[in-house]
Amino acid sequence: MGTKQPLDDCLSIQDGHLYIEGQDCVDLINTFGSPLFVFSEDQLRRNVRRFKESFSAGWTAGPVKVMPAAKANWNLAVQRVLADEGCGCDIYSPGELDIAFRAGFEPRYISVNGVPKSEDHIRRTIQCGARLTIDSVEEIDLIEKVAKELAQTAYVRIRLRPTLTEFTDPSDFSAEGKVPTDVVAMAYKGGLSFDEVMAYAPRIMAMDHVEVTGFHEHHGRHSRTTAYWRAQMKAYAREIGMVCKELDGFKPREIDVGGGFAIPRDPFNAATDYNTPRDLNRLNKVSRILQAVLPGKRYPVLQKLMEGVSATPNQIPAPTIEEYAEAVTSTLLEELPKHGVDPEGIMLQLEPGRSLHGNTGIHLTTIQAIKNAQAPLKWKHVITDTTEFWFTGGRYEHHLHDYRIANKADAPFTQKVDVCGRSCYGDRIMPFIYIPEVEVGDIFAMLDTGAYQEVSCSNFNAMPRPASILVKGRDAHVIRRAETLEDVFNRDVVPEHLVSLRAPENDELVKDR
Ligand SMILES: *Cc1c(COP(=O)(O)O)cnc(C)c1O
Repeated sequence: MGTKQPLDDCLSIQDGHLYIEGQDCVDLINTFGSPLFVFSEDQLRRNVRRFKESFSAGWTAGPVKVMPAAKANWNLAVQRVLADEGCGCDIYSPGELDIAFRAGFEPRYISVNGVPKSEDHIRRTIQCGARLTIDSVEEIDLIEKVAKELAQTAYVRIRLRPTLTEFTDPSDFSAEGKVPTDVVAMAYKGGLSFDEVMAYAPRIMAMDHVEVTGFHEHHGRHSRTTAYWRAQMKAYAREIGMVCKELDGFKPREIDVGGGFAIPRDPFNAATDYNTPRDLNRLNKVSRILQAVLPGKRYPVLQKLMEGVSATPNQIPAPTIEEYAEAVTSTLLEELPKHGVDPEGIMLQLEPGRSLHGNTGIHLTTIQAIKNAQAPLKWKHVITDTTEFWFTGGRYEHHLHDYRIANKADAPFTQKVDVCGRSCYGDRIMPFIYIPEVEVGDIFAMLDTGAYQEVSCSNFNAMPRPASILVKGRDAHVIRRAETLEDVFNRDVVPEHLVSLRAPENDELVKDR
């Protein structure tokens, strides 16, 4: 029970403590407070370099640009590291475009994605020379109009939505994991349909103030397999070929394959249900029968059945960055020429999000209370000072993160518990997992929280969001300070007619706080 994937990255165990690079996680909590999001600068740099090197090794036709998805972790310090590594940047919103400017990315390697885009957003993109990804019919004329007003050229890529005919395995994003990927891919709004592209591409090409530099696609992580990536690239190459033919032999300068590669330890776990593990569903039938015929035996039998139910983080590593690189580059090199496109000189771009940031981050939280119910069913709650509302990105995708007790990292797993958060919800962050003996004050570490987690925190229960720390070797820096209650209430405005309703006693309470 609870065998774990190896810590072969920024994490290690020394004298029973979990370390991130040269930092003892216990020291981090003592210095900066609890809970914390912690990121490793060196891990981020190592990951970027692996993407760069492996895709460059495979893509022999031209240059490669890694343009990480800013949304996965748009913290400014983190984005500065990526700019320093020579990366480009995939952005979605006007706010992310701002981050890209502040971090100092070269504009021609900023990929401005998203639908819809406001006129102002389009204007700023054209002004700086970033790449606009066309992702709706409505924005086509707007782009030409704005570029004309500015007397500038808009550099655009057409976002395709290649039909995944060759990949009909169920998508991880589907209910119960049972809907074919090519069908689920249709549910995602990103990209123009093939018919739209064929209808509008000639018009886009003919526009005076628009220059088409290439193509874009992003289907995301429907499956972690390299087979999925081969199928995706096959479909992409086919559609690129057909569009280029329609455009009288147009040759793209850039081909962007988007993101969707899995995090190495891959926290995706289809069976995770945070309310009650799915395995408990079968209790219902047993419960009904016993209730009818042997009510006195109902709890003992349910207890017995529940003992067999537990949740274990994924034990099998995802394909490596190198394996993904091989699948993508070899398929494109093979397929593009088949469809009349010579890859020579084309820049290959990729936009990894989760796979680049995931294992750069951990979340540290302190155990605050332990409840150990014995009857009518045994149920142990280990309650921490974090909350599921700070993991919405992962919960949305059924994550069950690998974990350690940071100050007892070597201790054997002896008990099954619910690790809970502190919101008023059930807040079962980790339902029915095995952990060592623990006490109040111990530090629970969730691994692989570097992508989509910190950036999706909310203020539910008026909880101020935690700080983020960047570790570099033995140094640690605050890169996003913890919120204060003042921050939380900052946007609230009480209209004049409600101010006077405030009872005097409440005034006293606020003052006394
Ligand atoms: C979200 C997104 C990505 C990154 O996806 P991951 O699954 O995190 O790798 C890349 N490109 C675009 C356009 C996106 O929307």
